[in-house]
Amino acid sequence: MAKPKKVSESAPRSRLDKIKDKLIKLGLRSDMDLVLHLPLRYEDETQVYPIHQAALMSGSTQVEGVVTACEVQFRPRRQLVVTIADESGQLTMRFLNFYGSQTKQLAEGTRVRARGEIRQGFFGAEMVHPIYKVILEGAPLPTALTPIYPAGEGLPQAALRKLILEAMARIEWQDTLPEPLRAALGLPAFESSVRLLHNPPPAVDEGALGDRSHPAWVRMKFDELLAQQLSLKRAQTARRAKGAAALPHIGKLSQEFLASLPFQLTAAQQRVLAEIRADLRAAYPMQRLLQGDVGSGKTVVAALAAAQAIDSGFQAVLMAPTEILADQHFRKIAAWMEPLGVGVAWLTGSLKKKEKTEAQARIESGAAQLVIGTHALIQEGVQFAKLGLVIVDEQHRFGVGQRLALRNKGLDTTNALEEQKTVPHQLMMSATPIPRTLAMTYYADLEVSVIDQLPPGRTPVVTRVIDQERRDEVIERVHAAAQEGRQVYWVCPLIEESEALQLQTATDTHAMLTAALADLQVGLVHGRMKPLEKQQVMDAFTRAEIQVLVATTVIEVGVDVPNASLMVIEHAERFGLSQLHQLRGRVGRGAAASACLLLYQSPLGPTAKQRLRTMRETTDGFEIARTDLQIRGPGEFLGARQSGQAMLRFADLETDQWLVERARDAAHKLLESDPATVEAHLARWLGSREDFLKV
Ligand code: ADP
Ligand code: MG
Repeated sequence: MAKPKKVSESAPRSRLDKIKDKLIKLGLRSDMDLVLHLPLRYEDETQVYPIHQAALMSGSTQVEGVVTACEVQFRPRRQLVVTIADESGQLTMRFLNFYGSQTKQLAEGTRVRARGEIRQGFFGAEMVHPIYKVILEGAPLPTALTPIYPAGEGLPQAALRKLILEAMARIEWQDTLPEPLRAALGLPAFESSVRLLHNPPPAVDEGALGDRSHPAWVRMKFDELLAQQLSLKRAQTARRAKGAAALPHIGKLSQEFLASLPFQLTAAQQRVLAEIRADLRAAYPMQRLLQGDVGSGKTVVAALAAAQAIDSGFQAVLMAPTEILADQHFRKIAAWMEPLGVGVAWLTGSLKKKEKTEAQARIESGAAQLVIGTHALIQEGVQFAKLGLVIVDEQHRFGVGQRLALRNKGLDTTNALEEQKTVPHQLMMSATPIPRTLAMTYYADLEVSVIDQLPPGRTPVVTRVIDQERRDEVIERVHAAAQEGRQVYWVCPLIEESEALQLQTATDTHAMLTAALADLQVGLVHGRMKPLEKQQVMDAFTRAEIQVLVATTVIEVGVDVPNASLMVIEHAERFGLSQLHQLRGRVGRGAAASACLLLYQSPLGPTAKQRLRTMRETTDGFEIARTDLQIRGPGEFLGARQSGQAMLRFADLETDQWLVERARDAAHKLLESDPATVEAHLARWLGSREDFLKV
C-alpha cells in the first residue's frame, strides 16, 4: 500500500514573516522598538587606502583592487585564496570557510572593496576573512560611518538598517522630556540624537561615538535610565498599595529563641534584623534581599524573622535550592525551635507518599508553623493555613516564577475584594554579594540589607594555588589533616559539556583517594545520587565517620560542617569566581585554621589567572564580587533577566553612575508633578519590555 503523500499544512511562510520572527527575538515589535535599536558600533568605510599604505597601518582598514587570481587551495587545509591588486601593490584575501559560488563571484578581473586587518603573511600582505563587496569602478564611498547593529543570525545588517530607516519615517518624534528638564540637564533633543546615532554625519567625533560619551548617546542613556527608575518607583508604589498581614509581635518565642542561642548576634546581624522587624510590622508586603557573605550567619536572622511571624499568629516557610541545604536548615532550625514548642514541617521531593501527605496535612491545618523544604513546596497540593512570611535561601538559584509561585501560596482565599487581598512578606537571601548600587538599580523594587561582618572567632582561610602536577604533595597534606582529626572536602572538576564525564571523574577520584588514603574513610557525593543516599553520606561526614568527602559541586551551597578545615578543588581554573568563593566558604567555619588548595592545569588563560589570583589574595566576598562583575559584566553576573537589567542596553552602571543619580532625581520629580510625561516616557521606552519588571 502506498503511503499517503504528506501535505504541508501551513502555507509557506513569507520572507517577511521570517524577518518578523527574527525581530521579535531581538525584542523588536513596534516601530519605536526599531528606532531605539541603536548601533553596537560603527565602521569606517569612508576611506580607501592604497594597498601599500594600508599594509603599514594598524587596525582595520579598507582597500580596493581588481582580482588577479582566485583559487581553492588544499594545503594546509581547504581554503579560498584570492589575490587583488591596485597601482601600489597586491594583497591576498584568505577564506577558510567559503561557498563554492564565491569562486565565481570573485573571478579574475572583478573589482572589490575589502575591509579588515592586514597581516604580513608568508606571501606578503594578507587579510583573513575580510568583509568585502563586489563593486563597479568609481562606485561612490559612503560619506558617513556605517552603523553596525546588534542582529541575530540570518538577519543581514542591510535589511535591519532598511527596516530601521523605514520605521524612522513613520514614528512620531515628540520629545518626552519637558523642555526645562532637558535644558537643565544640558541634553540634546530626542529626535536629533536618534538620527545622529543611526546616521552619523561625516564630521562626527568618532571617538565619542565609539565610547558612547557623545551627547547623543548620553541623551539615550539618560532616557533609558529614567524609564528604569520610573518603572522601579512605580512597582514600589504598586507593592505598597497591596496589603500584607502585619506581623507586629516580637513575643515569647522570639525572646526565648534569642536567649537560647549559644552566641550573641553580631552587630551586623542585629542591624539587619532591626530592618526586617520594622518591615514585618507594616501592613504592606516586605520585599527584602538579605545579602551576606558565606558564613556570615543569615540563617539565624531568617529564623528570627520566622519567629516574629509565628509570634504574630502566622506561618512562615523557608525554601532552599537543594535537598542537602534544605535538610540542613531543617535540622538546625528544628533543633532551635522545636524545644520552644514550634511545629516544624519538612517537605521535599524525596519524601515517601505517606510522609508527604502527613506534612501537607500539618501545613494545611496550621499545626506546622514553620515549613522548610525545596521547590517541592511550590507544587500542587501544598496549601497553607495562614502564611505570613516567605523566605527564599540562595534566591538567585530560583527563577522569578518559582519565587512568585511560593508567594502565591500565601494569597488569601477569603472573599475579600481583589485589591484588598493580602500577600505574604518576602525575605530573599543570597551569598553572592552584589554591590549595593548595582542591586538597587538592577532588582526591581527590592530593599537590600547587608550583613557585612563575620561572626567572631573565625580564622581566615588560607588559599594556595598549586599546579596539579603536585597532586601527590596535596594528598600528603590531606592525610596529615585527617590524622589531626580534621576533615577534608575534595571537589571534582566541573565538566560543563558532559554530566556523565563529570560523574566518571568523581568516581575515579574517589577510587584513587580510597587507594591512596587506605587508613581513612573516603566518601563520595554527587548530583546523581538518590536523595536518601546523599543524605546518608552527608550525615556520615557530619558525624565525622567519613574524613574525606569527594564531591561534585553539589556541596556548593550552604553546607555547614565546622570540623571540615581543608578543601581541595581540582581544575579550579574551570570554575567561576563566585562559585570558587562559595565552595571555599564550606571551610573556615570552625575555630581551626583552614586552607583551600586550588589545583590547576597549566597553561592558564588570562581570566583564569585573574580569578585564581583574586582567590589567593582575598577572602572578602564583596571584593570578589566586584572582580567577578568586572570579568563577566553585569548581565551574566546577575543571571538572566533579573528584572531591571533587561531594560538597560545603553547605559553602563559603572561608568554612568552620575547619570543614574540624575535619572533617579528626575524620576522623583516627574512622578510627583508630571504624570503625563511619566506615561509618555514609559510607553516609549518600556514598550513590550514591561513584563520583565514584574518580579
Ligand atoms: P550563611 O550566611 O552562609 O548562611 P550560616 O547561617 O550557615 O551562614 O552561619 C554559619 C555558621 O555561623 C553557623 O554554624 C551559625 O550557627 C554560626 N553563627 C551564625 N551567627 C553567629 C554569631 N553571631 N556568632 C557565632 N556563630 C554564629
Ligand atoms: Mg546559608
